[in-house]
Amino acid sequence: MNKTQEFMEILKCDCGCSMLVVEKTIWEDGDIDFDISIQDSRYDHNNTTILGRIKGATKILFGKPVYYSDVYISKPEVYKNFVEKMRGLI
Ligand SMILES: [Zn+2]
Repeated sequence: MNKTQEFMEILKCDCGCSMLVVEKTIWEDGDIDFDISIQDSRYDHNNTTILGRIKGATKILFGKPVYYSDVYISKPEVYKNFVEKMRGLI
């Protein structure tokens, strides 16, 4: 089945390490679905180097608790603006 329309809203972490992505897809038959994901290319606010990423991978390997990803927003108006954009997807 083919997509007819796609909409996407993105909220980036203040430090740029990750982003919250909300996608809305309208399919050929009229079905509508949503996908919410956190995407990153560099894990951890404080460990953005290769060594930091290896440290993070080591924690995972030994079963220690880790934050896989998060989006930190320090400005309420940025969050409010994002929420309004998400409402626009409905
Ligand atoms: Zn961050």
